[in-house]
Amino acid sequence: MSNVPELFGSLVFNDKVMRESLPKDVYKSLRKTIDAGMPLNQDLANAVAHAMKDWAISKGVTHFTHWFQPMTGITAEKHDSFINPTRDGGIIMEFSGKELIRGEPDASSFPSGGLRATFEARGYTAWDPTSYAFIKDGVLCIPTAFCSYGGEVLDKKTPLLRSMEVLNREALRILKLFGNPATRVMSTVGPEQEYFLVDKSLYEKRKDLIYTGRTLFGAKPPKGQEMEDHYFGAIRPRIVAYMKELDEELWKVGVLAKTKHNEVAPAQHELAPIFADTNIASDHNQITMEMMKKVAERHNMACLLHEKPFAGVNGSGKHNNWSLSTDLGQNLLDPGKSPEENAQFLLFLTAVIKAVDEYQDLLRMSVATAGNDHRLGANEAPPAIISIFLGEELSEILKSIEKSAAYNKKAKKYLEIGVDVLPNFPKDTTDRNRTSPFAFTGNKFEFRMLGSSLSIAGPNIVLNAIVAEELSQFADVLEEAEDFNAALNELIKKTIREHKRIIFNGNNYSDEWVKEAEKRGLLHLRTAPEALPCFEAEKNIRLFEKFRIFTEAEVRSRTEIMLENYCKTLHIEGMTMVEMARRDILPAVTGYMTDLCREVKLKKEAAPACPAAREEKLIGRISALCDALSERTEKLEALLPEAEDCLPMQERAAFYRRKVFAAMEEVRAAADELETLTAREKWPFPTYGDLLFSI
Ligand code: ADP
Ligand code: MG
Repeated sequence: MSNVPELFGSLVFNDKVMRESLPKDVYKSLRKTIDAGMPLNQDLANAVAHAMKDWAISKGVTHFTHWFQPMTGITAEKHDSFINPTRDGGIIMEFSGKELIRGEPDASSFPSGGLRATFEARGYTAWDPTSYAFIKDGVLCIPTAFCSYGGEVLDKKTPLLRSMEVLNREALRILKLFGNPATRVMSTVGPEQEYFLVDKSLYEKRKDLIYTGRTLFGAKPPKGQEMEDHYFGAIRPRIVAYMKELDEELWKVGVLAKTKHNEVAPAQHELAPIFADTNIASDHNQITMEMMKKVAERHNMACLLHEKPFAGVNGSGKHNNWSLSTDLGQNLLDPGKSPEENAQFLLFLTAVIKAVDEYQDLLRMSVATAGNDHRLGANEAPPAIISIFLGEELSEILKSIEKSAAYNKKAKKYLEIGVDVLPNFPKDTTDRNRTSPFAFTGNKFEFRMLGSSLSIAGPNIVLNAIVAEELSQFADVLEEAEDFNAALNELIKKTIREHKRIIFNGNNYSDEWVKEAEKRGLLHLRTAPEALPCFEAEKNIRLFEKFRIFTEAEVRSRTEIMLENYCKTLHIEGMTMVEMARRDILPAVTGYMTDLCREVKLKKEAAPACPAAREEKLIGRISALCDALSERTEKLEALLPEAEDCLPMQERAAFYRRKVFAAMEEVRAAADELETLTAREKWPFPTYGDLLFSI
């Protein structure tokens, strides 16, 4: 490997390159515009575009693209070359400021949830200069936001940027009250990304993996994850080579890939970057997912980012580590050492507690997808109930604050916020509660419900917005207070008292917790069709409208898109199942059964005295299962058009969940049993054992 510091960011038009390649005054005004979040003027844009093009061409680049994140949840790009014809029949390489700051992809085929019918058809992309341009596959990629001409937001990036902006604004109001001189507050995220790797040649033989990203059939292999020998285990050479190349590719484009290890399930792995500002983290996570797939191809493997590629072993999630930091480098969720720092920390902490309690529905909704339904509440991922883990010590401290009781029984002293120093509580590192959906881990919160393939934009839009809302309410109270410390103490106490029900330090996987949570009145939204419509609750629309993150129409259209996406996913899965059952499994098994029948016949002719009961029993079982599989496949097939006839979308999603999902499980059960009865070489595609232990 070449020199890593040299490699890092070598394909990024970052601050260093800008400083080196732009005239001093241009660089300065660009920096100023970026830092102030102002739009670029034409001259400035031309100068930047020119330098960017020269830099890109020096790296062998011929095309550029506005790289954006439509509602599909993945990124989109359309490549344009730099070429421009000259009069003499030749060409020159050109790239204008206009092309840099604004693009017009044909937006008509991206999901808009009905927005486009009501409003303006065309959309445009606009450069987000806080996210650096980079080179991917020989193409200059310009990170952009995507809007319609009517101003409606058509992507995941614009609302994310807006949510960061309002959080900045409201957090600064609070910091001002504490006399904190910071001038900017950013939400930061470090997403830990889980994934599976399987051999490419085996992957290609599975229509379900190709069409749906997960296995729709597959009997349990003799070995799964029960030995717990994969987690943090020695990494096999082929995977080492893959991870090494992945790191290098990510470093080149400026992604701070940091940690890699094997995960719980066989063939499962994880990559975690060093945290970054949320919009950058979101862009980088998209690049990471894309790169994971691409590098896998080069190593003759397929990278599976689905939440549940295999039944019976763990699925994949994405832990969203989230915090707030200031331009002065202070982490606002770090308890600090002085009474002032402690007081400020407690206020931010209680704001998060209140936010999570009041907007459980939004948080749950933000991670609801068809894929994630296989994980949440399945004893491998957090349950579908939102709660916060704080750890025993911090919870005790909050309890003593609430009750004005002594925390330390010996000292018999009340803790006066803003005057006393917080008692020490250990950072949660060793006995970390892995079952909590939303855990405080010393100086950040870890939101653990995200599915592995999800864009992190959605959950972070929600997190930023709901915390901004609570900070705004707190600031309203504290700005009016005559005695700041007294008001602060009262506010923190009141918030703890009113929202402590959301705190739970026990085992979230237990049945007792489900009952306890119900008693506490916490929401339990088990599936995506139940969770998604919560987006449209009146209080949530009010929240997003207040902060100008989404209009009511945008909330409704996004809900529609997500519900529709759920339906389409199940539809494709259903169709794939029908095809595999009918065209692969049934013919293969019938062939095997015919062989068995022939055997019995031959045996009876050749050795009439020998019993054939074993074969006949097997034939009987296979025959019955084939009939069942065939019948159930027909039933599933008939349900699909029926589902498509349901309206509104919420009804359709519910139908898919109730009827289609159940029918699919029945088809699978018959097929999986057939797999265990059929000769290995007759089974039409690779088994779980083949896929999970192939590398
Ligand atoms: P784990 O044991 O869960 O893997 P780590 O300490 O390794 O915990 O951190 C996991 C992720 O949290 C990393 O991506 C890391 O960069 C991120 N992280 C650490 N501090 C912050 C922070 N202040 N804001 C956001 N993410 C953070
Ligand atoms: Mg973690």
